[in-house]
Amino acid sequence: MAKHTIVSIPGDGIGPEVSRAARRVLEAAGLSVDWVEMLAGASALEAGMENVLPQRTLAAVLAHKVALKGPVTTPVGKGFKSVNVQLRQKLNLYAAVRPVRSLPGVKTRFENVDMVIVRENTEGLYSGIENEVVPGVVTSLKVASQVACTRIARYAFRYATRRHRKRITVFHKANIMKLSDGLFLDCARKIHDDEYPNIEYDELIIDAGCMKLVQDPSRMDVLLMENLYGDLVSDLCAGLVGGLGVVPGSNIGDDAAVFEAVHGSAPDIAGKGLANPLALIMSGVMMLVHLHEDAIAAKIEKAYDIVLSEGKHLTRDLGGGATTDAFADAIIARL
Ligand code: NAD
Repeated sequence: MAKHTIVSIPGDGIGPEVSRAARRVLEAAGLSVDWVEMLAGASALEAGMENVLPQRTLAAVLAHKVALKGPVTTPVGKGFKSVNVQLRQKLNLYAAVRPVRSLPGVKTRFENVDMVIVRENTEGLYSGIENEVVPGVVTSLKVASQVACTRIARYAFRYATRRHRKRITVFHKANIMKLSDGLFLDCARKIHDDEYPNIEYDELIIDAGCMKLVQDPSRMDVLLMENLYGDLVSDLCAGLVGGLGVVPGSNIGDDAAVFEAVHGSAPDIAGKGLANPLALIMSGVMMLVHLHEDAIAAKIEKAYDIVLSEGKHLTRDLGGGATTDAFADAIIARL
């Protein structure tokens, strides 16, 4: 089996705890790997680095092309641009892919949820272009470009086709943001019509889309949306299947891919051994599929499904009393 070199960014808050657990599970399942550990976030500043996203961390991800990243804390109001926004923009990680599915043993209001959020990751209101027009009046610019809208639409349709998905639904607010969301819709329609008529296509105004999501998420398949909507809808959808501890994610570009959970650094539970490492372990499974290590990925999926079904080693967010490490140990024991 090939040995992989993977950048590990433990991050801040619960990041180091869940990263350690995820790395242990991947290695125990048979992944042959050299981890290249790099700093980002508040921990980079604490180590005396110049920026929340140090140049050497960026260079390592570009060099090795794959990273497993824990959540980071971006100091608020200190003039630093968010690590995640920088990473996604500088490495052109244009597609965030976040599968949301019901898990065995995790009781929620709905069963049979199996959807994927595809979020445009590089522009929208994350362009960082804000102006003070006059004192007391500020603007934030929402950017939409034909190149980025077409690129994410094509990615979503290709993903849906390869994964045997049936339908893509675009969430938008083009009734109000006629130009920016209008362009997003035009690009998605064109890719559907010209390249992927095999996939069903529909559109929902995002407010109505959110209502439909909480009424019956099992009817949704692939959801495609611009940056901010994708951020909000991801957390909403996490809440439908058991919370932020169980939703993984990936940020994909043409030159690199960064795998990370949807959740943040959870300072309220950091350092207490309470964090659920499953979202990052699942992100690691997505990474394994990206690296064509499907057999190891399947082994880990099977093991965590067993642990969840047994219900004896769940972390507090899932109603149990197990620590982060105990949950990871239970998965390792069932590999
Ligand atoms: P959060 O996701 O960190 O936490 C929200 C709630 O979910 C908290 O109650 C937390 O305890 C719980 N939670 C999150 N992950 C969990 C897990 N794995 N197991 C159990 N419970 C979990 O969101 P927040 O509190 O709004 O943000 C905290 C920090 O994280 C902020 O600095 C924010 O900027 C940052 N953040 C980083 C990322 C990232 O690096 N990808 C994403 C989102 C937020």
